[in-house]
Amino acid sequence: MQIVNVWLEHPVMNLNRTFSYALSDEVSVSRGVRVRVPLANQTVTGIVDSIFTVDSLEEYSLKQGYEIKEVVEVLDEEPVLNDELYELGLWMAHETVSPNIACFQCMLPNKIKPKSNRKAAVLNYFVSLSDETLAKTEKEKKAVETLRNGDMLRSEFNKLFGGNYSNALVKKGICTIYEKEQEASYEALDIKEADYPLTDEQKQAIDKINNSKKNVILLHGLTGSGKTEVYMQLAAQKCRENKQVLILVPEISLTPQMVKRMTDRFGNNIAIYHSKLNDQQRYEQYQLVRNHKVKIVVGTRSAVFMPFDDLGLIVLDEEHDHSYKQDTTPKYHCRDVAIKRAQTHGCKVVLGSATPTLESYARAIKNVYELVELKNRIHQQLPTSHLIDMQKEIRKGNTIISSQLEKALGERLAKKQQAILLLNRRGYTTIMKCRQCGKVVQCPNCDIAMSYHKDTNKLMCHVCGYEQSADMNCPNCGAKNWNNYGLGTQRLFETIQNKFPQARILRMDADTTRNKGSHQDILEAFGRGEADILLGTQMIAKGLDYPNVTLVGIFNADALLGRTDYRSVEVTFDLIVQASGRSGRGYDSGEVYVQAYDCKHYGIKMAVNQDYISFFNEEMNYRHIGNYPPYCYMIAISFNSRNEELVDDVAYSASEHFRQFDDFRTLGPSQLPKQISEYRRRIVLKGSKRAELIERVWDWYREQNFNKNQLKIQVDVDPYVLD
Ligand code: ADP
Ligand code: ZN
Repeated sequence: MQIVNVWLEHPVMNLNRTFSYALSDEVSVSRGVRVRVPLANQTVTGIVDSIFTVDSLEEYSLKQGYEIKEVVEVLDEEPVLNDELYELGLWMAHETVSPNIACFQCMLPNKIKPKSNRKAAVLNYFVSLSDETLAKTEKEKKAVETLRNGDMLRSEFNKLFGGNYSNALVKKGICTIYEKEQEASYEALDIKEADYPLTDEQKQAIDKINNSKKNVILLHGLTGSGKTEVYMQLAAQKCRENKQVLILVPEISLTPQMVKRMTDRFGNNIAIYHSKLNDQQRYEQYQLVRNHKVKIVVGTRSAVFMPFDDLGLIVLDEEHDHSYKQDTTPKYHCRDVAIKRAQTHGCKVVLGSATPTLESYARAIKNVYELVELKNRIHQQLPTSHLIDMQKEIRKGNTIISSQLEKALGERLAKKQQAILLLNRRGYTTIMKCRQCGKVVQCPNCDIAMSYHKDTNKLMCHVCGYEQSADMNCPNCGAKNWNNYGLGTQRLFETIQNKFPQARILRMDADTTRNKGSHQDILEAFGRGEADILLGTQMIAKGLDYPNVTLVGIFNADALLGRTDYRSVEVTFDLIVQASGRSGRGYDSGEVYVQAYDCKHYGIKMAVNQDYISFFNEEMNYRHIGNYPPYCYMIAISFNSRNEELVDDVAYSASEHFRQFDDFRTLGPSQLPKQISEYRRRIVLKGSKRAELIERVWDWYREQNFNKNQLKIQVDVDPYVLD
């Protein structure tokens, strides 16, 4: 009898151990294969870790002290996780302090995730000849003739011969039908050349990257300096060497534009992998890589787990983007996984950005990474930027749009040029307040004010999605006399439309892009010039390359500074620089207007001047004084529960536990706003030795055996934001 040890998802969280099941000797199974096994009263799917044989199951069970049940079904012939990915999963679990099974789950596309329900991949049916001598009639002979050229899709065959002719032939014994997994189509590799010569700067950058002895390269280049072209050149080189290439992009910049640029260059020999694909499409793209049908993958975060076996290059575009960090367990950072995989494959990682994270830039100037720079824009100088003090504007009665921006917008519209307006807040207004008693309407599940959405006349919680009609009396005093405060994209849209009735405006935010494909539709319409103004939240700040855009307006640019998060200045800086970069990318020079209340803030001033180096130096100073990354490592541990007493209890005893150690600092527990009816607490550990911190957290974490329904504990190593 064989005994297999299996990783399972268990309702007792954090349980990071395997369970043993029996399997008859006839069935072959190996590490990384999925099996169905009984657990409590259910059958669940798990991943095989190890296998060994025993002489007698009974004896073995006795020795273990519990009954060993049998494996119900072995799902795969080949492991779904090859050795590299299996080891990667274990490494990631350790690094992120999360259960192994959680990492395996997140590495696999839904169709083959080890979850309790297996959804079969779409199957295709093929018609194949079995005994052609049985063909008697003219039609039958013609069918045989056709099938001699090879098996045919049943649907095509029946279209050709009418009705369900394939079945008729099967009955006569002339044909058989078999099923095969559907494969996405692909074409042979056909790389086009760029239709312009590379600039000297681009050539030098490529040489420097190729000749570098370092594994990680930071490509620091202004927006529009030709970074994407550099990635494509490097990718083409590697493909010609018959190697695989992975190009990672943030969720938001996987725009139709980016995809088009890639397919124009590499034909259809690329897999595109992102969260908007349905399960079947994702699975097909995954299989394309697994079966060596494509050399290049362009994808968002989870594409880093594709089953490559001969990687020649990984590119991480816009490396500062927060979508690279997963915000649920396992809270991994795509960059760390990319670097780990590159080490295994012996290839380079290129991190590209106009605004690298402080961590990456600090590593680059300390020579841990190779620093490669592109200092000039391809077509134009940077746009001219104006910083507008909204305190002054308000005194002039301009509460939403400043007179300068309004004038500039009018001029650009008259010239038939396009504009992008950024406001990082959706809805109409952000607060609804009772005029009589001053009550602010809050979400019943979360400690947060609800936003007013005029189009639906509803109040909405942007945290949990709770909605209620805005046609209501004050729950506090019963009056029905409301004041609305704050500025959201709906209200901005209305204001701009009133000022420029002729202008064609497209709004893009989470509300207008809820439907599949709407994101793409809006951007394509704007690209075709069907609108004059694209107005939206941060989803329009990045990656867009429209040469006719010559004006960018940023509203409430300093809104994010109000957060207590240590990274809020960096995030603000990035957003302004990235959004500014959308202006003047073509032949006409561009302008940027940044509206803010706190115009003296260094982060705002330096962003308006696109001065990354000064910003880096200044911000590093503050991080040093406050002892924040990159001057230390942090691990955040959060506790969520509907039971306030329990959450306090556990959080306080955890902090007490960690306070015993004096080689790192323990902060908290701090009380976070309630979310989705759960009370939240968080402690933060700060220290100079990352590996040691992780070990300490593991020691504690292994002992936490709560049922997930009662209390959730989440560990975040290198938290991206702490707000
Ligand atoms: P980035 O990725 O740094 O924002 P891109 O690679 O998108 O920059 O380049 C900006 C624009 O310049 C794109 O429209 C691109 O097609 C064009 N471009 C890039 N390299 C060259 C070049 N060597 N000559 C002419 N145009 C170029
Ligand atoms: Zn809510």
